[in-house]
Amino acid sequence: MTTQVVSNTQYAKEYIDGVFEALKEKNAHQPEFLQAAEEIFLSLVPVFEQNPAYIKHNVLARIVEPDRIISFRVSWQDDNNKVQVNRGYRVQYNNVIGPYKGGLRFHPTVNESIMKFLAFEQIFKNALTGQPIGGGKGGSDFNPKGKSNSEIMRFCQAFMTELYRHIGPDVDVPAGDIGVGAREVGFLWGQYKRIRGAYEAGVLTGKTPGYGGSLARKEATGYGLVYFVEEMLREANQTFFEKTVVVSGSGNVAIYAIEKAQHFGARVLACSDSAGYIHDPEGIDIKLVKEIKEINGDRINTYVEYRPTATYHEGCTGIWSIPCDIALPCATQNEIDGDSARTLIANGTQVVAEGANMPSNLEAINEFLNAGVLFGPGKAANAGGVAVSALEMAQNSGRTYWSFQEVDEKLHGIMKSIYAQSSEAAKKYGYAGNLVVGSNIAGFVKVADGLISEGVY
Ligand code: GLU
Repeated sequence: MTTQVVSNTQYAKEYIDGVFEALKEKNAHQPEFLQAAEEIFLSLVPVFEQNPAYIKHNVLARIVEPDRIISFRVSWQDDNNKVQVNRGYRVQYNNVIGPYKGGLRFHPTVNESIMKFLAFEQIFKNALTGQPIGGGKGGSDFNPKGKSNSEIMRFCQAFMTELYRHIGPDVDVPAGDIGVGAREVGFLWGQYKRIRGAYEAGVLTGKTPGYGGSLARKEATGYGLVYFVEEMLREANQTFFEKTVVVSGSGNVAIYAIEKAQHFGARVLACSDSAGYIHDPEGIDIKLVKEIKEINGDRINTYVEYRPTATYHEGCTGIWSIPCDIALPCATQNEIDGDSARTLIANGTQVVAEGANMPSNLEAINEFLNAGVLFGPGKAANAGGVAVSALEMAQNSGRTYWSFQEVDEKLHGIMKSIYAQSSEAAKKYGYAGNLVVGSNIAGFVKVADGLISEGVY
C-alpha cells in the first residue's frame, strides 16, 4: 500500500515536472507567465496523484497551451496628427467552461508574457465563480497616461477595428483591467456596434449602467475582495471591526475595497499609486480619494493638500512597512516580494488578500504560508469583478437590468461559495487552511473534467 502511494506521488511529480520543463524551454523569455504557471503546477501534485486519468489524458500540457494568441498592429493619430503604432493582443486561452472571458489592459508594460500570465490565471478564477465563462485576456502597450480624451477614443476605435473579428457574445467577451474603465469600454463598444451593425450588448462587460452595463460592476472587485476576507476572518472567529488595513493602489479595485472595509468598521491607513503612497493614520477619506481619482483624474499625492493629518511618501514598497492587521495589495503584479512579506509578518499582519493579479511573488507567498498568515490568493479573492461581468452577460442575454442590491447579493453569494470551494478542496487534498492550493485545485479540476469530457481534438 505504502509503495503504491509513494509511486503515485513520484509519477505525479515526474509528469508535472516534465510539462513544466517543456514549458520553460518554449517560453524562456516569459518570466511572469512561468511564475504564474509554477505557482499553479506546485499545487497540483495531490490532484494528479489521486487522478491518474488526468495524466493519461495529458490535461496539464493541454491546458497550459493557449487555444490561440492573437497579436495585431494598432495605428492611430495623436492630437498633433502624428501617426502612432502600438501592439494589441488577445489571448484566447481556454473555452471549456464558456466563451473566453477576461479584461483588456492598456499599460506600457504589456507584452506577451504579461498577457499569458493574466489569461492563464483567468481560466481558474473564472471556473471558481461557477459562472459559464472561459479564460482570456488582452490589451496593448499603449500608455493612456497624459493622453487626451480624443486620443483615447481614437486608440480604442483603432484597437476594436482589428479586435472585432475575433470576439462576440458567444465567442470571447473582453472587459476592463488596468488602464481600461467604463470610458474606454464605452469607446470600444461604440466601435464594435458600428462595425457589426447589430446591438450585441453581451460582447463586452463593464459598460455604463443604463447602456448595457450592470449596476455594481464598478464596485464588484473591491467589494468581492472584502466579502472574501470576511469569510477568511469568520473561520478565525474575527471580523473587520476596528481592524487596521493597508490597501495598495487607488484604482477601481482599491477604492471599493476601502469603501467596503470601512463600511464593516475597519480603519484603512494607506493607499497608493505607481509613484508613491499616502499614509493617513486617522483613516483614509474615501470621498476625497474618489474625487481625486474618479473626478479629477489626479495623482494620489494631491490628497495631502486637503488632509493635514496625512503624509505622502515616494515609492511603492514603503507602504508595506506600515503596521496593519490586514494587507490588501490592489495595485499590480509582483508588488510584494520576500522582503516586504517579511516586514508585514514582523509587524504582526494576520491577513493578506490579493485584489490585484499575482501581486505577491512566490517567495512572498511561501513566507506568508510558513508564518501562518491567512493568505487569500488573487484568483479566488479578486474574482468578484469577473463574476459580476458574467452577471452582466446574463442580464444582456435576458435584455433586462437587475437592481444594485440584487447584483450585490449575488456577488456576496459567489464570494462565499469561492471561499467554501477553496477551503474544502484544500482540506480534501490534505492542505487545510492553504487557500493557494485549494483555489488552484478547485479551479483546475473543473476545467480538467470538462476538457476530458470533450474528447481529444
Ligand atoms: N480584469 C478583471 C480580472 O482580472 C475583470 C475581467 C472581466 O470582468 O472580464 O478579473
